[in-house]
Amino acid sequence: MQRDTLEKQIIEHNVELVRAIYVGPDGITRGKAFRPSSLNEILESGLGLTQAQASVTVFDHLPPESEFQPVGEVRIRPDLDTFQVLPYLPGHARMLSDIETIDGQPWELCPRSLLKTFLNQLSAKGMVIRAAFENEFTIFINENGEWQPLDQLNCFSSAAMDLASPYILPIIAALEKQGVMVEKYYPEAGHGQHEIPVRHQPGMQAADQQVVFRETVRGTALANNFRVSFMPKPAPETAGNGCHIHFSLWDSDCERNLFYDAGGEYGLSQTARHFMAGILSHLPALMAFTAPTTNSYSRFVERCWSSCYVCWGPDNREATVRAASGFRGRESATVNLEYKPSDPTCNPYLALSSLICAGLDGIENELNPGEPVLTDPALLSPQERERRGLTRYPIDLAAALSALEQDDVLRDGLGVRRVTDYVTMKRAEIEMIDSLGKDAEQQAYLFRF
Ligand code: GLU
Ligand code: MG
Repeated sequence: MQRDTLEKQIIEHNVELVRAIYVGPDGITRGKAFRPSSLNEILESGLGLTQAQASVTVFDHLPPESEFQPVGEVRIRPDLDTFQVLPYLPGHARMLSDIETIDGQPWELCPRSLLKTFLNQLSAKGMVIRAAFENEFTIFINENGEWQPLDQLNCFSSAAMDLASPYILPIIAALEKQGVMVEKYYPEAGHGQHEIPVRHQPGMQAADQQVVFRETVRGTALANNFRVSFMPKPAPETAGNGCHIHFSLWDSDCERNLFYDAGGEYGLSQTARHFMAGILSHLPALMAFTAPTTNSYSRFVERCWSSCYVCWGPDNREATVRAASGFRGRESATVNLEYKPSDPTCNPYLALSSLICAGLDGIENELNPGEPVLTDPALLSPQERERRGLTRYPIDLAAALSALEQDDVLRDGLGVRRVTDYVTMKRAEIEMIDSLGKDAEQQAYLFRF
């Protein structure tokens, strides 16, 4: 966007505050807002931020073991192209931001800059990733001072659509005003659970769109006196909130889907198979970024559509990676892979970077994903699962973090300093939740994302 177009929009919409936001490694969208009169200087040199923000937990606790402590400064550098007037909050606009060093270089721990390096690696191989984050979320309404799920109706139920319409339509309108293309809407199986799938986008736009999505859903709810939660498993007895990542690789002109091969089994190319094999082989470590909260692991129960055994399968909705069949007549454009063990608390830049890192390892080493699983793996006997190597997901975040520490490809690919800091921060988060007791997860994750 041109600077003068942006200035015009600020005047036209009476913008009082422009926020420069980034997503911290903890997954929370944070930022600082500035008055429009400071626009030029902030676009030039950014806003000040302590490096320690890379290490704070969702409780804003800075672990003493972290490398980054209160001395040391970086800059929040807003990206002009992401400027949006917030349709749900009069007087506000936002820009997504990178974190830079004081002298204007990408900061080693900036998640958005990390994704740029992985997108460049793909581009050096003549490839572009297109992706869509598919969020499920829980709508809460206030009943006698208590926040309660909106409904207890059925998955895909038409009655739930009637009931939720006043909540869903303002969200769709606000997303579309910002250029997010909403493709579908449906009530989901959990109490108060709904889903709004959006159009896939090339790499950076896909991750940016996920930030805009979460911000818009949460902000629109607040503006309309209801609330939403992106917590992975808000109630143990009903379905969890996933955020499956659909993706495909394309040639550099985005004209040919490199995951599609008309002659391949299930329409899949070798590239798709190698990429998928990379994901499966780095899975426990990958989950440290895609299922990043203690609560994330409550989601992975058998027969809850969330997947919990490491495997792939064509149109298998209980597999880690579902090879999604193409739509008749549009196969070459629509065949894609769906990665299931991710939820909406993930930092989308770290999640997508780690998926690409694992997938590229699969391509470079020509890994084989093994036999597809053609049933719900939970229906196989334990002996059969063992024979086929269908291991269960890590039981908790601590196990995923240990796997990450031991995964050379992800550790080196994402950077040892980043991974060390992340693991330290997340371990402090686990410790805090353990020490707070029963309601700690609700406190930590219900309304913070
Ligand atoms: N709610 C399920 C999950 O936790 C996903 C249901 C679906 O397939 O959309 O991942
Ligand atoms: Mg769903």
